[in-house]
Amino acid sequence: MSSKEVCSIKDCGEPGYKSLSFEDASKVFGGQLTGKRRVKLCKKHWKEYKKATKRERKLERWRWG
Ligand SMILES: [Zn+2]
Repeated sequence: MSSKEVCSIKDCGEPGYKSLSFEDASKVFGGQLTGKRRVKLCKKHWKEYKKATKRERKLERWRWG
């Protein structure tokens, strides 16, 4: 009954921070998602999502030092 807004990633359980469509989220998190049409992501997973959907720019990502 109470729709607590928690992160839709399996085994996460953090408070929801952003909501997005299942479709978009599943591009990044795939089978880890527990939502239906609308999913919630906690801050941590939202960051992961943003990172993953950013243009791939992995070159020169090495920390040198
Ligand atoms: Zn999460």
